[in-house]
Amino acid sequence: MTTIDRKYFKTTTAYERQKYLHPLAIGVMLHAVNFAPTIGVNDLIFTETVTTEAEDKLVGRQHDQHRRRVAVDVRVKNWSGEQIDAMEKELDTYFNSIAYVNGAGKKEVAFCHGEADNIHFHVAINAKFKLPEITDFEKIS
Ligand SMILES: [Zn+2]
Repeated sequence: MTTIDRKYFKTTTAYERQKYLHPLAIGVMLHAVNFAPTIGVNDLIFTETVTTEAEDKLVGRQHDQHRRRVAVDVRVKNWSGEQIDAMEKELDTYFNSIAYVNGAGKKEVAFCHGEADNIHFHVAINAKFKLPEITDFEKIS
């Protein structure tokens, strides 16, 4: 199975857990990694991949997309507004057929939110691809 290089991840945990993501989510990550240099982004960093319920509680995460293995986060604090817009448009367009439907009824894959140092893309595929959450990473790795 394809493994995205450690240099694209903020933490070793996020890097090691990429293997539990839905394969289509990994496809989105690979596309983002390959697209980034074409818009002058040289610091694409995945800050979060698969999480546990306890970890979600700790950061007040209200949805289950990370622990159900269909979402990753991408740090964009050093990107320009144009670079953020270009990546969002690219992922939303290229992966339209596997996008999720947001609260406004619009299909999207990349959603930019947060402020200042915490600004990031939440990147997710459709809820129908959700997988069972992993309750004990140590037992299965
Ligand atoms: Zn997220």
